[in-house]
This record gives sequence, C-alpha cells and structure tokens, in this order.
Amino acid sequence: MKNRNLIKNSYFKKIKKINEYNKLYYEKSRPTVSDAEYDKLKKDVIELEKKYIFLKSKNSPSLLVGAKPAKNFLKSKHRVKMLSLSNAFGHEDLKNFEKKISNFLNLKKSLNIEYSVEPKIDGISASLTYKNNNFVLGLSRGDGTEGEVITENLKTIKDIPKYIKDKKFPKDIDIRGEVYIGKVDFEKIKDRFANPRNAASGSLRQKDPNETKKIPLRFIAYTYGFNSEINFKKQSEFLNLLKIWGFNVNELNTVISGVDNLAKNHKELEKKRHELDFDVDGLVYKINNLDLQKRLGFVTNAPRWAIAHKFSADSSFSKILNIEVQIGRTGALTPVAKIKPVNIGGVMVSNATLHNEEEIIRKDIRIGDTVKVERAGDVIPHVLSIDLKKRPRDSKKFLFPKNCPSCGSKIIKDFNKISKKYDAVKRCSSEGYKCEKIAIEKIKHFVSKEAFNIEGLGKKVVEKFWDLKFIKLPFDIFNLNYKKIENLDGWGELSTNNLRKSIEKSKNIGLDRFIFSLGIRHIGQENARLLSKYFLNVKNFNDLTKNFNFSSLGNLDGIGETQIKSLKNFFSDQINLNVVEKLISILNIKNVIQNTKGKLLNKTFMFTGKLSNISRAEAKSLIEENSGKILSNVSKKLDYLVIGEKPTTKKVKQAKELNIQVISQSEWEKILN
Ligand code: NAD
Repeated sequence: MKNRNLIKNSYFKKIKKINEYNKLYYEKSRPTVSDAEYDKLKKDVIELEKKYIFLKSKNSPSLLVGAKPAKNFLKSKHRVKMLSLSNAFGHEDLKNFEKKISNFLNLKKSLNIEYSVEPKIDGISASLTYKNNNFVLGLSRGDGTEGEVITENLKTIKDIPKYIKDKKFPKDIDIRGEVYIGKVDFEKIKDRFANPRNAASGSLRQKDPNETKKIPLRFIAYTYGFNSEINFKKQSEFLNLLKIWGFNVNELNTVISGVDNLAKNHKELEKKRHELDFDVDGLVYKINNLDLQKRLGFVTNAPRWAIAHKFSADSSFSKILNIEVQIGRTGALTPVAKIKPVNIGGVMVSNATLHNEEEIIRKDIRIGDTVKVERAGDVIPHVLSIDLKKRPRDSKKFLFPKNCPSCGSKIIKDFNKISKKYDAVKRCSSEGYKCEKIAIEKIKHFVSKEAFNIEGLGKKVVEKFWDLKFIKLPFDIFNLNYKKIENLDGWGELSTNNLRKSIEKSKNIGLDRFIFSLGIRHIGQENARLLSKYFLNVKNFNDLTKNFNFSSLGNLDGIGETQIKSLKNFFSDQINLNVVEKLISILNIKNVIQNTKGKLLNKTFMFTGKLSNISRAEAKSLIEENSGKILSNVSKKLDYLVIGEKPTTKKVKQAKELNIQVISQSEWEKILN
C-alpha cells in the first residue's frame, strides 16, 4: 500500500510539473526547460500509466493538447478539434506505427501504404476560417477544443491571403497551418526570445496587433479543419489545391511509401535541415488516402492516421564559421567552434567546444566544415563528427596559436607523471592576474555561488565592470563606487543597494570558502576544506605564504605533490600575495570550529586495501565526523593503519617497523562502535 502511495505521489508530482511547463511554454512563450527534458518527463508519465493501471488523471499529458487559451484573449470553439501528433523517434517506432495501421484496417501485408510527408515546422499552428472567400476568423490551437481569437494579429501576416480569388474555393473552410519566423529574421530579435518557436508564439499572441506587425511572421498551410466541400481524395491533392488558392505550402512536401524509404528521407533531411531558413523538428507522415484517414479516426489527443518522426533533440548539424581559443580560469586554452546558430531541442547553440588541439587534428576539423553538434543534458555543446562530403574547397585548417592570445605568454603542456605523457590541454604559462582573460575568469570564480556567493554580481556584470575598469583584482569588489554603478544603464537605486548589501554580507566568510575562492589550480572545494581544517585560521594560512613551508602539507590525505606544486606556484607570484594580504585585511574570515567531542579526537588514521560494504570516501568522512584525522603517508604521526582486502604490503611493513597499530576493518568499526 505504501508503495502504491509512493508511485501515485511521484506520478502526480510529474503531472504538476508538466502543467507548469505547459503554461510557461504555450501561454507565456517562455520555457524554463529544454524540449528534451520536457519530453522525458512526459514519457515517464506515460510509461507509469502503462505499468500501473491504477494511475489516472484528467490532466495526463496522454489526454491533453497544448494549454487553455490565455485569459486576455476572446475564446472561440474549433468546429473540428485541433489536435497534437503522436511521436516516433526511430525506425522501430515507425514500424510499429505502420503495423498498428495495417492491423486496424485489416490490410494485406503486401499493400504499400502511401504517406504524405511534410516537414514539421517548429512554429505554432493557427486555424483560418474563410467564408465566401473572405478571411473572417483566426484562432490559435489553445487546448485543441477552444482557441484564442487572434484574427487581427493573423491579418498582419503577408503570407495569409485575406481574400481568395479562385471561384472553386470552398464556401466555408478552416485552413490550418504553421505560423513561424525565419531564422534570418529571428537573428534580429534573438535577445528577446529563447528560440524561433517562442518568438513566433510570443509575437503572434500579442494583445496589440500593431506589436505583431513589427515582427516578420510567416505562414505555411498544410491541412483543413471544417470543410464544406471536400472534392479531393488525397492529402497530397489538397496540398496542391492550397498552392492554387494562393497559400504558401512547403516546397519539401512529398509522397513516400514504405517505412525504409521514410527513414531514408528522414536521414537526408536531418542532415540538411540547418540549411533551411525555418526550424523543423521532424517530419509529419500522414496516410495520403482520405478514406483510410476517415476509417482510422482519432485517439484522445491525436489522429491515428498521422505521426511526427522527430529529429534528435540532442544533436544537429551546422557549419563552422570560425574557430576561437577560449582561456579558462586555470589558463587552459580551449578551441571553440563558432557555428551558425542552430536550434538543438529548443536551445539555440552557436558555440561548440573542440576540447583541445589534438582533437582538432585527430578529427581534421576545419573552418567551413559541416559538423554534427551534440548538446545532451547539461554537457557543454561539442562537435561530434564532420560530414566530409560537405567540405567546401576553401575550408581552412586551424593553426593553434603559439602564444596566449590574451597576454602573449608562452603556451605550455603539463607532464603527467602517472601516465608519463604530456596533457592534451595547452595552457597559458602566466600565473593568474597578469593575463587579462584569466583574470576575468578568476573574478567570476571568486564571486561564484560556491565561493563568495555575491548575488547580483553574475558573469555578465563582472564582464561589464571589468570593461568599465571598476574591477581588476578581487579586492576591488569591496571598494566599488556605488554612485557610478547607480547611474549605469539597467541599474537603479534598488539594484545598487541590493548589490551593496550582498557584497557586505559576503565579507563574513569561512576559511574553506576563502581558500577555494582564490582559484588556486588543483584546490577545489574538497581540497580547500582539507586545507582549512589543517590551518584552522587565516593567520596560519597566511604564515604559509610568508615562510613558504609546504612540506607539512604532504601528510594531508588528498593533498599530493600536484597540489603542493600548485600552491607554491600561486604564492610565488607577487600579485597573488598582494591579493591575499589585501583581502585578509578587508574580510572577516571565520576560524574553523573543530569538533572536539568525537571519540577519535587527536587520533590519526590511514587506509590501505579495499574495504567491504563501505566506500573509502564514506569511511574517511566517518572518521572526520568523529574528530579524527586522515593521513596519506605512513609516518610517526600515524596512530592506526586500517587494512582492507589486498593491502599494499609496503605500507603494512613500514607501519609495523614504526610500531603503528595495524588493524582490520572490523577492529576499526569496533573503535567507532
Ligand atoms: P507537436 O508540436 O509535437 O505536434 C503538433 C503540432 O505540429 C501541430 O499543432 C502543428 O503546430 C505542428 N505541425 C507542423 N507541421 C505540421 C504538419 N505538416 N502537419 C501537422 N502538424 C504540423 O505537439 P505539441 O503537443 O504541440 O507540442 C509538443 C512539443 O512542444 C514537444 O516537442 C515538446 O518538447 C514541446 N514542449 C516543450 C515545453 C518546454 O517547456 N520546453 C513545454 C511544452 C511542450
């Protein structure tokens, strides 16, 4: 029973989330998640419904279309419902679709089903009612049953004929199609919308049609709703009639039979879609024969006779316009492909990482190449592969710079002692703030959530303040001229005050966060925490910079040669020393409060070999929770060497020679109780 409740809870939570996303997407044209994320959630819900028949909701995405019409528009009922489409993501889905149709219609296997194949433009659909050849009413899809009255807005679109001359045009008909914005036109307004679909939806559904008029919207027709005179037998015939009547129809519409041919055509268009001036998110296949369509009918929210064969929501093709080198906080130089902006699952992508020089050489990636770019989940968009067939004659090889493009310092590669190889990543050899690009990244890191967590001082603001010379080094943040900020474009008294408050608040900071904020290479959050526990207060930490005594750090578990080398490098730089000293004088850096109550107080431990039923990380954190310390070397300072399966014999021998207690995992657990 408990299990059943848990399943129900999770199901309704997901549905609630979907409804929130729907509202933002359909009503506000401002999605907060990618289409891939939304589709995954929807799929989860539908799978749950299939698995547990007790799950039912009238708000299930398997029953609904779009979202209710917005309150600020008049509403009107569709004479024929405007539905959604079922989706197919691969060959298997297509085969199943055709099989279901054949079964339903009881067709012979050998009968080839003919499909009208139409690119699925990623815009928003509209229904245009024509009576006696005049455009009289325009509706959005809304929830499929009722739409928003947007006649005047639709009238501003040049592609929509207001009057049809052809005498044979039906006396009463709803023409349906997609309102969209071309990619070139989208470029002009891209700062206001996440992608062309949102731009089309947001612009079309303006309260004031004069606002709609300012955006160059387009219309492509593809079907009908109510129709007083159906005197054609095929969808493809209807598409031809639309053209004769004066509507734009898609030039790429075609008729295809056989699932294999559908898949082949899909593959070809997927490679070509970045060249089109409108976003397509798939192909729509409709049974071409209207009698068969009629027999097949509808499921709750979609026709049974059509399916949308979607393109990948994770990847797309585009062209490399240029290759630039980006410089990260630690000096890493990353080549980045500047690509022709492309919509990948609802997100416009114009940069794709090429990782490093070796990757460019290995894949022979050139400027001008057509490449497949992947953007999956939170991973940074990256170039997956090249379409060599599309390589232009004048493609250009990229030459990696010999010196840092920002400060001109020598470029180096680190040698990895373990793998005995040079790293693939090239780096600027300057230490920190001398290189302008590194300095900006270091400041972004300094104010980031995990470090000083200064609200109102995001990446864009840091860049702006840098350009205006308000900030050059981290301590400048605590000495800002707020009067100047208040007078900047986009700033006012309230936002400036809020910034001042969050900067003041951030001055009280823990030692671990302070160490992390300095952005020392190889000193991430975990190592900063280890160091703070070792130093306990900022004075001890600062002494390190004065007497340069790093040897004692070597005993800390987690701090190895690499980290020590990096700390030495950092503190041998005069600017870094000044930064640390000045920050210490401005800030209130809190001491580390030691847990002095734990039963392992003043006891030191080290592990060797595999532990059973517990990870190393958990074992270490148990020791720390009980006030014990972890060491990384066998030395006189060590109290216990805990041995698991297959311990390092050298360590055990060393421990025994030094009279250190060598104990088993279960003995250690007894000490911990
Ligand atoms: P849909 O867009 O997948 O399919 C139906 C629509 O296809 C029709 O209404 C029509 O507008 C369009 N279409 C284009 N060409 C067509 C043609 N030739 N024939 C027929 N129809 C054609 O269905 P949907 O239910 O409106 O929307 C689902 C999509 O919206 C998914 O891709 C989903 O990821 C996205 N979405 C995203 C979010 C988000 O928050 N990111 C929220 C809701 C929906």
